[in-house]
Amino acid sequence: MPKNVLILSNDKPESKDIKTRLVKYLKNTAVLVNNLEVDPDIIVSIGGDGTLLSTFHQFKSHINTARFIGIHTGHLGFYADWQGYEVQELAAAIVDANGESISYPLLEIDMELTDGTRHKELALNEFSIRSVSGTMVSEIYIKDHFFETFRGDGICVATPTGSTGLNKSLGGAVIHPRLDAIQLTEIASINNRVFRSLGSPMIIPRDEWFELKPQVYSNNKNMIVSIDNMAFSDKIISCVKLKVANERIHFASFKHTHFWDRVKNSFIGLSDNEANHKNPDNYLK
Ligand code: NAP
Repeated sequence: MPKNVLILSNDKPESKDIKTRLVKYLKNTAVLVNNLEVDPDIIVSIGGDGTLLSTFHQFKSHINTARFIGIHTGHLGFYADWQGYEVQELAAAIVDANGESISYPLLEIDMELTDGTRHKELALNEFSIRSVSGTMVSEIYIKDHFFETFRGDGICVATPTGSTGLNKSLGGAVIHPRLDAIQLTEIASINNRVFRSLGSPMIIPRDEWFELKPQVYSNNKNMIVSIDNMAFSDKIISCVKLKVANERIHFASFKHTHFWDRVKNSFIGLSDNEANHKNPDNYLK
């Protein structure tokens, strides 16, 4: 069976140009390109992390079998292993690809809305709920046991690869994605003599889960729910269960940036010496 590769890009001229070149390099090979009739084996996302998040949500029904590849034309490109100038090398790697991958945990979100409906979602980065105006009050349960009542602006629950996104800005820890865990961080909690929540990020393993039961007010249109790069103001949640998903996302591993290299490149930057003499074997895998 020939491989089927889907190539998606954002609207930036640079991304579109890379897409055109990748299609050209894959022409006259055994690889099918952008054939929507056949399940994709490889999904290439050209853009920034936002583009990759959109691509993930568009094709998440294929995550068990498809391998994702990010080509960086965004601002940060945390998830992208490839640069635009490497497109010919990437085309050759796709032709030779044997399905090898590296996989990362995802977050399962099971929401019960006030209208009685239930919605299951997956997140690659995080779920967050926050008040638009006024204090958000929410009971937090861990593994069905009441833990605390949170008061503040909101709550974020992130995956390990999402731990460098919103979670990090909230003071959460950066988690290596080999750990099958999720992390809850508070957004501006109220902590005083009267109201108290833990105040620290909490990290739980695969066999535990968080349950949030936000207090719902009669005029409740005051909460925003975000899942990765999507935001909803029409989802009034009465209860949401958050756990490590059974599904995982698979990235093609024929070129893969080590996690701590990825973190360092994104947040610290390489010294000139490291950039010139980078030896991947010296880094933590
Ligand atoms: P955006 O406002 O365009 O993206 C915010 C920045 O976060 C971009 O620079 C993006 O990289 C980067 N980013 C996304 N996922 C990341 C990750 N896992 N690790 C490190 N950086 C990451 O919003 P967007 O494109 O719709 O993306 C939504 C994501 O942005 C959310 O899932 C959230 O994690 C993150 N975010 C962070 C904050 C914050 O830190 N205060 C606020 C809002 C959203 P690119 O430039 O490559 O796209």
